[in-house]
Amino acid sequence: MNMDYSINEKQDLLSLLPNELEELVLSLGEPKYRAKQLFAPMHKGVSPAEISNVGKALVAKLDTVAVYSLPAVRKKLVSAIDGTVKYLFGLADGNSVESVVMKYKHGNTICISSQVGCRMGCAFCASTIGGKVRDLLPSEMLGQIIAAEKDMGERISNVVMMGIGEPLDNYKNVVRFLRLVNCEDGLNIGYRHISLSTCGLADKIDELAKLDLPITLSISLHAYDDAIRSSIMPVNKKWNIDRLLSSCKSYFAKTGRRISFEYTLISGKNDTKEGALALAALLNSRLRGVGDTMPIHVNLIPVNPVDETGFSSSDKKTVERFAETLEKKGIRATVRRRLGADINASCGQLRREEEQKNG
Ligand code: SAH
Repeated sequence: MNMDYSINEKQDLLSLLPNELEELVLSLGEPKYRAKQLFAPMHKGVSPAEISNVGKALVAKLDTVAVYSLPAVRKKLVSAIDGTVKYLFGLADGNSVESVVMKYKHGNTICISSQVGCRMGCAFCASTIGGKVRDLLPSEMLGQIIAAEKDMGERISNVVMMGIGEPLDNYKNVVRFLRLVNCEDGLNIGYRHISLSTCGLADKIDELAKLDLPITLSISLHAYDDAIRSSIMPVNKKWNIDRLLSSCKSYFAKTGRRISFEYTLISGKNDTKEGALALAALLNSRLRGVGDTMPIHVNLIPVNPVDETGFSSSDKKTVERFAETLEKKGIRATVRRRLGADINASCGQLRREEEQKNG
């Protein structure tokens, strides 16, 4: 049994890969095909006890050694403007995390959390204020998708790991989650429909590159030089911009997948025209060699003011000027559309509100 993944000292069923579930079923003296009967429904939000063709005997045996647990909807907000749905999910140990489902023409995209809290300490971010409480299990990341699909009665076709937490700080569980979400008999979401956003743990980007999973990597860059980046993102003191971009370059060389950069515009901090020129020069010189066509895409996000941080967002004109300056230098730039503005859909804030009420 794989007790790396347990809930209340019992095997966590939703963290198991198909072959591991088979092993478990065999170890309980049941035929292998039972694993298939369990896997597909479990990944649709049906517990073993509710699966009609799985015998009562197996359900009873499973109960003694294993748990099936899904995040519970603790709070749900639906945007009247664009239908964006924000969930506060309760976990088995009482902690909570947030997920947001955004409705696009090409399908539903879910933004999921990877940790309870975060220890990266970015100065503008609500998720890191109380530090990291714990890593999420693979099942708890998967469970956010399953629970949201079940609640909404709609399929989710795209996943972005941009919620609470730093996915590469929970590397092992995140990789397992990626493999689970991609399982044909499970959610069957293709790697190309998954984006992983990181504040820049360069060593882990290198490890991920070796796995060669065709997911999209998003780098939270937020600055065009080390002085500014270190002042808002402590991670930069360990992995500076140069080291980070060299990992990005090898990631692209190995996987052929484009990398996108996130750049939060903070008024008076990183949003000048000179800043945009410096950013373009940095990306062009570090990521593009002669004849190299690596597509570079910068996603501009006007900072979402969080009470405790004291940062304010750049005005519309400044944001547009920044985007135009990048474009002129051959860098694709888009300004992030703000979905769910009426429900405060950016991550980290709902969990914080809830904690402040309780504590
Ligand atoms: N830890 C990962 C993913 C979570 S945050 C990462 O750092 O990439 C997802 C994105 O939202 C990151 O780019 C993050 O820097 C950004 N972000 C966090 N707080 C923000 C805020 N107040 N306003 C705008 N963007 C923010």
